[in-house]
Amino acid sequence: MRIDYNHIRPQIDELLMSYSDLKEEDTENNASIILFGRVSINRSYNGFTIDKKYDIKILIPLNNDELPDVWDIGNHIDKIYIHRYPDGKLCLETEAFIAFCFYNGYSLLQWMKNIVEPYYFSYEYYSRFGEFPYGDRGHNLVGIIETYQQIFKESDCAKVYKLLRAISQRKYRGHLPCPCESGMITRKCHGRLIYPFISDDYLFSIAKRDYSRLCEAI
Ligand SMILES: [Zn+2]
Ligand SMILES: [Zn+2]
Repeated sequence: MRIDYNHIRPQIDELLMSYSDLKEEDTENNASIILFGRVSINRSYNGFTIDKKYDIKILIPLNNDELPDVWDIGNHIDKIYIHRYPDGKLCLETEAFIAFCFYNGYSLLQWMKNIVEPYYFSYEYYSRFGEFPYGDRGHNLVGIIETYQQIFKESDCAKVYKLLRAISQRKYRGHLPCPCESGMITRKCHGRLIYPFISDDYLFSIAKRDYSRLCEAI
């Protein structure tokens, strides 16, 4: 997400203030910042409450096109859970979704509150009830399609595919027919929703790669 140190420093301080058992690792490494320690999560939904502490490691990359990652160092998440990778890294959400949140101005604290904490809550809820509280985001390709359905506000997979194809060609013509082939002009159809993926280099690179993955799969 191309974050430089000066820009990210206040956000890291804000995160450390909100999660007082989280510490910053002392390192000479200036490619990333590592936080580790215990976070308390206290949340309720549908009459189910968790109030639990989790040992985690967070890696925040600097100056490159990567997103922050979280590892379950306390082994709180079952190793066979689909949204946990074998090395303990959490499959928090799709890259496109998280990148889109940062594009829309998310701070690290918002990322923590709105993506990381709900991840743990969903896991606990799923372990108890066998279903997900806010609906599951599919893993891999299914998750990718669902993400763009959500962002483009479009349930028709074929239209989502056509929109991604247009994005990958990086052409935007607001006054021409929308790439979804609805017959409306782009500006009055999906224009506003696809524009960030055409104008922003980082979102564009993710959408282009997601589109190639979809093409390989079909
Ligand atoms: Zn996943
Ligand atoms: Zn459209």
